[in-house]
Amino acid sequence: MNVPLLDLTAQYASIRGDIEAAVTPVVSSQRFILGPEVEACEEAIAGYSGSRHGIGVSSGTDALMVTLMAEGIGPGDEVITTPYSFFATAGVIARVGATPVFADIDPVTLNIDPARIAARVTARTRAIIPVHIFGQMADMDSIMEVARSHGLVIIEDAAQAIGAEHDGRRAGSSGHYGCFSFFPSKNLGCFGDGGMVVTSDATRAERIRALRVHGEFVQYHHRIVGGNFRLDALHAAVVRAKLPHLDGWSEARRANAARYGRLLGEFAREHPSVLRLPAAVNGRHVFNQYVVRVADRDLVRDRLTSAGIGTAIYYPLPLHLQKCFSGLGYARGDLPESERAAEHALALPIYPELGVAEIGYVAEHLLAALAERPRRD
Ligand SMILES: *Cc1c(COP(=O)(O)O)cnc(C)c1O
Repeated sequence: MNVPLLDLTAQYASIRGDIEAAVTPVVSSQRFILGPEVEACEEAIAGYSGSRHGIGVSSGTDALMVTLMAEGIGPGDEVITTPYSFFATAGVIARVGATPVFADIDPVTLNIDPARIAARVTARTRAIIPVHIFGQMADMDSIMEVARSHGLVIIEDAAQAIGAEHDGRRAGSSGHYGCFSFFPSKNLGCFGDGGMVVTSDATRAERIRALRVHGEFVQYHHRIVGGNFRLDALHAAVVRAKLPHLDGWSEARRANAARYGRLLGEFAREHPSVLRLPAAVNGRHVFNQYVVRVADRDLVRDRLTSAGIGTAIYYPLPLHLQKCFSGLGYARGDLPESERAAEHALALPIYPELGVAEIGYVAEHLLAALAERPRRD
């Protein structure tokens, strides 16, 4: 059997008619830049995520980047974020000239630990970027509390978490900004790069809208310097055509996770130092990734690869240990929870179209690989 980590062709086969119906009018109109298709997509995503305004942008990375630009965050400023995320989360902070400050994660959810954020706030801190890692929301109530008491801006990196919920709020709607990615492997992917900023603050929305077209509020008149951060109309059409399917896909991901839980739970309970399953403790987890933590991860991964099972390591090296950030002065051991997660994390196939037989096959081979590990006790 062959079980890929992700199979986008299975999803496309199920919605091909919807996509063609959405894309053809854009092609016929030859209107590719902004316009009604992008506006309709912005309205749909803002509504879905529980925010007033949506601004389509060129990627999830650019979504994060324009929010920092909109807040005028730059040299001399500090932005607190998690060391356990995709690179873009911290990369954008450095790109605007500010300093990323890393606060370690909660070992249960793998999300940034609010108590550790409070300890890293200084007079230079301007913003916090919590990431809803793998599709489960960070503890936004506690994070908002820290932000309020220090007057900080909250930018939610919800690239992996569209549709996730916690305490009745959807990912992207608790902070001042929410940032989504439509990269193909995200839960709501377009046919290339794309993203969106959501916010309920009209002034902030207007600034983002200007920044994505070189900072023009009136055509060819530039009050601030922006860039070309636009979402293409074709991608907007794809996103809008897929949106009605998103909740069904998220439920399928959750059902797949529950099935893994039934097949692997007993072993994980009996051998917590060998296998840890993802803990869905913060509301509705939408499982963009299903990341287990295993002993002898690289060996286990090799065994699964030999059995035809696709896996991935999110993330092998935490951000504070990346070479490009060596100037920040972090050393191995500084953020131990992130470092431990990086050493043990292994993503298993979880995509919505995954079959029951395939999940059984993955679970069986994972248990076999764990049983075959060299014993050290
Ligand atoms: C994917 C991702 C991004 C970046 O999104 P792109 O659309 O690929 O630029 C940012 N943060 C996180 C947590 C992501 O997973």
